[in-house]
Amino acid sequence: MDGLHYEGMIIRPPSEADSIILQITRGCSHNKCTFCGTYKGVRFGIKDEAIVDRDIDYAAKNLQFLRRVFLADGDALILPQERLVRLLQKIRTRMPWIQRVGLYGNAKSILRKSLQQLKELRDLGLGIVYLGVESGDPQTLRDIRKGVSREKMVEAGRRVRQAGIKLSVTVLLGIAGRERSLEHARATGSILSEIDPHYVGALTLMVLPNTELGRRVQEGTFEVLDPRELLVELREMLAHTHMSRGLFLSNHASNYLPIKVKMPTDKERALALIDEALKGRVRLKPEWMRAL
Ligand code: SF4
Repeated sequence: MDGLHYEGMIIRPPSEADSIILQITRGCSHNKCTFCGTYKGVRFGIKDEAIVDRDIDYAAKNLQFLRRVFLADGDALILPQERLVRLLQKIRTRMPWIQRVGLYGNAKSILRKSLQQLKELRDLGLGIVYLGVESGDPQTLRDIRKGVSREKMVEAGRRVRQAGIKLSVTVLLGIAGRERSLEHARATGSILSEIDPHYVGALTLMVLPNTELGRRVQEGTFEVLDPRELLVELREMLAHTHMSRGLFLSNHASNYLPIKVKMPTDKERALALIDEALKGRVRLKPEWMRAL
């Protein structure tokens, strides 16, 4: 065997760039969000345990310099509890130097686990769950077919935190289009306040042509925000976000103005920076520098 076994495109959060990526599932169990083209045409499936075991053996022998593991693809938390427990136990036994295991978990998969089950996973090394919240606006969540209500999203996020697992959420600037931009911003600020995650990544929507949203843009039924409108939305969102601690980041390559806000202490300073940018006193990232 000459490497880890991957099928299709492997996506991981930017903060997992230096992690051992073990692919446990193929695709995403939901696969219906209107803006997402990541797993289009991929039928969701759980990979054979023997293949994953071989990957763990390979990593144990060859990747001892890496300290973290990320379980891909879209929603590894959907695995039955016994299988996740076995997997985390194997990682712990064969790679005892691993300091943290992370995965993407959507709200439905989180809610299928009891608090006790999540605590069991935490005790076996699950240290961080990445949850795509996208918006706190109930209408926007319906429009983008997130497949989960605002209430369930809050419940899922809080359950992860209560289990003592770090929670990193992403929200999407521009996802509600022009008309609902400010409703989306305020409701998203308020859902972040209710969930109170450890990390927030506010990413800017990049419309992909192979998605339903891409088709809506072409038809003219969805309006993409310009850089200034995105900044106004970011400002409104941040102003409505009250986190007890943690980081609010808006520094993804797709964002126009990179910011890193230590909450709650740096919030006012960040709002002032955005105001300066809105007055044209801070340079925004030029269009050609944006990348996925
Ligand atoms: S849940 Fe995530 S990976 Fe799945 S379709 Fe939605 S955005 Fe894409």
